[in-house]
Amino acid sequence: MTTVGHLINGEMRTDAARTQDVFNPATGKATKQVALASAETVEEAIAAAQAAFPEWRNTPVGKRAAVMFRFKALLEQNADKICQMIGEEHGKISHDAAGELQRGIENVEYACGVAELLKGEHSKNVGPNIDSWSEFQPLGVVTGITPFNFPAMVPLWMYPMAIACGNTFILKPSERDPSSTLFIAQLLQEAGLPKGVMNVVNGDKEAVDVLLTDVRVKAVSFVGSTPIAEYIYSTANANGKRCQALGGAKNHAIVMPDADMDNAVNQLLGAAFGSSGERCMALSVAVAVGDQAADALVAKMSAAMQSLKVGAATDSSNDFGPVITRQHQQKVVGYIDSSEKDGATIVVDGRNPQVAGYEEGFFVGATLIDGVTPSMVSYQEEIFGPVLQIVRVNTMDEAMQLINDHEYGNGTCIFTRDGEAARYFSDNIQVGMVGINVPLPVPVSYHSFGGWKRSLFGDLHAYGPDSVRFYTKRKTITQRWPSSGVREGVSFSFPS
Ligand code: NAD
Repeated sequence: MTTVGHLINGEMRTDAARTQDVFNPATGKATKQVALASAETVEEAIAAAQAAFPEWRNTPVGKRAAVMFRFKALLEQNADKICQMIGEEHGKISHDAAGELQRGIENVEYACGVAELLKGEHSKNVGPNIDSWSEFQPLGVVTGITPFNFPAMVPLWMYPMAIACGNTFILKPSERDPSSTLFIAQLLQEAGLPKGVMNVVNGDKEAVDVLLTDVRVKAVSFVGSTPIAEYIYSTANANGKRCQALGGAKNHAIVMPDADMDNAVNQLLGAAFGSSGERCMALSVAVAVGDQAADALVAKMSAAMQSLKVGAATDSSNDFGPVITRQHQQKVVGYIDSSEKDGATIVVDGRNPQVAGYEEGFFVGATLIDGVTPSMVSYQEEIFGPVLQIVRVNTMDEAMQLINDHEYGNGTCIFTRDGEAARYFSDNIQVGMVGINVPLPVPVSYHSFGGWKRSLFGDLHAYGPDSVRFYTKRKTITQRWPSSGVREGVSFSFPS
């Protein structure tokens, strides 16, 4: 069985002191193993990144950008292969994988413009013969720790900009679907990156803990579940590192009585069940305002769900694939069971989907649950599966209060035809990314991505302009070259 290894100092390595199975979630079979890096292996990667930093930092910014241009071309040339690799280990259908990759490539495009983004600020004659400017210098060795659900896109949120800014990088991808992530890093190497600038260590907590505590690592970007995000943030901070840690979500859509219901249902279908609901921006709760809207939503949604196709990634006519592991399948089913036990109504039940030829796969069918209330554990926690919960309320304020009271604040959306209501919603809702008749308001690459509340620990969001600030530190220089013949006295007062 193939072992997925590491990329350290430009070399592919297999440090197989410990390994873990990688599954094809559609067949339920282990197809590969992934090497789990020991502390020594991670330290080697840090040493390689540290050694590569001085030269890379001093490489002209145009040359750093040129590598990103070549990388983008290689990603496009290899898109089909990458999507196939994602399908084999994550299970998402090729059209969905292509969307993820495209959003990742857009972050590489943004990094191609790094020269413009690093130009800094300049002021002439801030005092007699004195000029002052601010420049943005790279931090050194920085690291990214990423989740299973976007094995191509989320790492591409991080390292293209970090590297373009002059840092060197160590990526610790998800151990559950590592192949596409490692392959993409090899493409970056092929694009002409010097050895040691980009390193990948596969592994688990043992590898992560070295990255969090080693003094040579200056900053940590993390994306994953909230309990781990909180651990990463507090540990990185305690070790003096800059950190941004993006966590989990429970994204609500408000469906107003005046909404175009057919449009809302169509949008909700993709946003709730696409990628089996394993997206941090998935809409997992629809809050219907008024019973009339709720009844119409449930009737139209349950009818539309009859035509949804769950199946293997190899059939592009499928709408979505399996969930990532057997344990996760059981967890999602457990949340549906607990909603039912707590008194909610299972309108469409996906607990036993029949997928011919894939009986051992980790499938959960699309599930619709009505009559969900805030006291239910299944409402309070992130399910991360193809499950849409309906909560019924009487007013828009009640709907907004629910969202504002929830632990998470990643994304949200309102379906309405009323501009005033939409404006009030976007102005007052306590959530980081807001859609108005847009179900998945994932910001484009030249804006930044991040939630509020316990969906993000840290100050700066991922990618976009915030990432330039995250991966650099500001230095402000004040300079005077006295003209000959001009003599100035000593001053003991504060410069003004
Ligand atoms: P996860 O938290 O289990 O794992 C994320 C990363 O952390 C992996 O690389 C994993 O190896 C590592 N890790 C896991 N346990 C660890 C530990 N105890 N100590 C140190 N490192 C550890 O998340 P996941 O299941 O891979 O991904 C799904 C989660 O990610 C969901 O909660 C989803 O909402 C979230 N997510 C959030 C965003 C966002 O932008 N906010 C984007 C994608 C996914």
